[in-house]
Amino acid sequence: MAKKAEATKLCRGINSPLLKCSGIKQESDFYNSWSKFEGDKTCYCKECCKKIYDYYLDETRNIKSALYYTCAKVDVPFIKELYENLNAKSIEGAKDGRKFTLNFNTYFNELHKKSTQKEILGSFDATDCDINEVDATIKTTEIKKKELDDFKSKWGNQDSIDDYEFLERTYNRYMTNFDDELSPQQQDTLCDLCRDRLLLRKLSENGCQENDMITKVQNRVNNLMKTLKIDNFEGNQKKTLSEQSFVEKIKMMEETKPIELYAKSGNDYIDYTKRKKYYTDLVLRPLCNTLAGHKDFNIDMSDLEQYNLKGDR
Ligand SMILES: [Zn+2]
Repeated sequence: MAKKAEATKLCRGINSPLLKCSGIKQESDFYNSWSKFEGDKTCYCKECCKKIYDYYLDETRNIKSALYYTCAKVDVPFIKELYENLNAKSIEGAKDGRKFTLNFNTYFNELHKKSTQKEILGSFDATDCDINEVDATIKTTEIKKKELDDFKSKWGNQDSIDDYEFLERTYNRYMTNFDDELSPQQQDTLCDLCRDRLLLRKLSENGCQENDMITKVQNRVNNLMKTLKIDNFEGNQKKTLSEQSFVEKIKMMEETKPIELYAKSGNDYIDYTKRKKYYTDLVLRPLCNTLAGHKDFNIDMSDLEQYNLKGDR
């Protein structure tokens, strides 16, 4: 008996320049769907789902965001708890060797173990995670082009976007050495330094055997650091405890007004210089004694009401 031909289905990725899907595929090439609208197979084939996930992962560099966007595209719910459990599993697995890769495929398979909830978990509508929690922005092509143009004008032509990112990161790292804004000359020198750092990294990554070359670049790096006066590593040593507390004090003084530090509460000034006491004991009290005709000189200044200070006895 001839084997019954497997049913086929049209994948939605057919006309996509990104997915380049052949279109008609065997039903087994699709995931089983619980969607009320899609029929019992997902609208994209497994291969396309993987491509979509890889695309978002590349764009966002974040598994959570990539999963979220892929779920939205394939119309599968993104369940936060499920993601968190799988993420924990993959982190633990990395530690003790039980390798578990979290991606759309493993997420989907885990989701479909919850078959008792298939009525609820049919589509992306069941997602219980706000898009704001998935903090990644997908850049549009125009923004990406603008960024690339900016990088090119700053760094010249480089091999890849990773190189530009390395240069930017290095630049920003070195910038922390400078308190003031850099002059254009300093900026150019710093850019030279970053480019040489990149070169040095590439030489070592590619297992360069030409030691002359490495030494040459290393020397150039050292000289540039000297020019920029950032080769003084002593200045970057950790501060001693007393230095730290001194810096803390200065910081506190700069950030606060004295009243905030010394007042007991809100507007209460404390008589730190004893001026108030001096005034009370040596001016006000003798005056009140004179007015009240007191000979014990022990007038209670906090309750002047009890004395007749008007002199009309
Ligand atoms: Zn497809």
